[in-house]
Amino acid sequence: MRFNIGTWFAQPMSQPPSWHLACVECGTTYLGLELRYRCDCSATLDVIHDLDACNLTREILDSRLASKNPLDRSGVWRFRELILPLGDETLSNIAVTRGEGSTQLYDASLVGSEIGLSNLWLKHEGENPTGSFKDRGMTAGITIAKHLGMKAVACASTGNTSASMASYAAISGLEAIVFIPEGKIAFGKLSQALAYGAKTIQIEGDFDDAMALVQEVCASEGIYLVNSINPFRIEGQKAIVFEIMQDLDWQVPDWIVLPGGNLGNNTAISKGLLELHALNIIDRLPRIAVVQAAGANPLYTAWAGGENLVPVKADTIATAIKIGSPVSWRKSMRGIEALDGVVTEVSDDQIMDAKALVDATGIGAEPASCATVAGIRRLVDEGVIKSEDKVVGVLTGHLLKDPDVVVKYHTNNLEGIKSQRANAPISASADIDEIRRIIRQ
Ligand SMILES: *Cc1c(COP(=O)(O)O)cnc(C)c1O
Ligand SMILES: [Zn+2]
Repeated sequence: MRFNIGTWFAQPMSQPPSWHLACVECGTTYLGLELRYRCDCSATLDVIHDLDACNLTREILDSRLASKNPLDRSGVWRFRELILPLGDETLSNIAVTRGEGSTQLYDASLVGSEIGLSNLWLKHEGENPTGSFKDRGMTAGITIAKHLGMKAVACASTGNTSASMASYAAISGLEAIVFIPEGKIAFGKLSQALAYGAKTIQIEGDFDDAMALVQEVCASEGIYLVNSINPFRIEGQKAIVFEIMQDLDWQVPDWIVLPGGNLGNNTAISKGLLELHALNIIDRLPRIAVVQAAGANPLYTAWAGGENLVPVKADTIATAIKIGSPVSWRKSMRGIEALDGVVTEVSDDQIMDAKALVDATGIGAEPASCATVAGIRRLVDEGVIKSEDKVVGVLTGHLLKDPDVVVKYHTNNLEGIKSQRANAPISASADIDEIRRIIRQ
């Protein structure tokens, strides 16, 4: 994935930036703004911040909550020293932001009491501008694309990445090219990519096929790749956990739980927590739990067996995590180990039951998001999470992303799923007595 097209450094080589890229496998380092996604050894890269030079404190971060500076108003750029440390002046000029983040952390005691927990919060990342946490990574990825002078961006996507990329590319005047698996993308997401004007290519194949193709095309056509292999996407997504900690007034919970597909997001959350801890902004670390769908569980299998990841053919109703060959698995595993984490898996039936529960409490989220709650339930049942533990679950995407599945669930039309919480519409003639009878029932 290597380009060789002149200088890509915002700062002269004689003043190397304090932050840099480093290979996850062999440790080779590269300059922060070098245009590359992988090491020469082909492994993925991390952004390494100079934490000694970072003077962020709780007080600085809290003061920004009352600021009118657009950077402070973004739930990503509020944490800019740990996202993309180019300085306030540069960032004010180049940041492509839609005011992402600043999502609600719901006290979800209704959901908690049903699954045996007394302290459950749900961070609703569906409340981002395009309806998923992908906006947090995308604001960083597109800002870098602009800064590097790229003209076009591309991604392979199960839907939400393409929706987000299409929007952020459109507002910044970049061409957007989306690779999606044909017929396997939720309608809410496909409609966003089309509406925001992305060139949308439906591949006869699954997400993993699309991912392989997009990497080749970006390398040969000089297009900037904004999949989560892109290390700056991961940096933006760390802001989910920065915000969770700020929402909780820096009181660290016992667990953070989230779904895992391509595994960029749990990588980001682990990295963000370790950085906050190194800076003494938090005084201890929570544990992390990553939840996979049983039909797309290569990380679970690798973690449970203590082995390297073996790709699988993915199949699950939760299309956002229907990924059989996750690119970020090594980074992900490293973060899980550092946070004494666990990986679990849940069936589609359990995902949909948890979704119906989350939806009916008025919070609502798309299927993959609710794998979080299904996973928490399983871990509570197994005694891994204790009933008095403080748990934060991440809801990754908005309920309206996949309305098809919702209607089918509530009308008992999902193959292989028991619709135990179905709330089907009731047909009635336009007759007041009949309607009174229905309402009084
Ligand atoms: C992308 C996505 C995921 C999976 O995140 P990864 O970083 O790929 O593990 C889960 N849920 C939703 C709604 C998503 O859009
Ligand atoms: Zn390397």
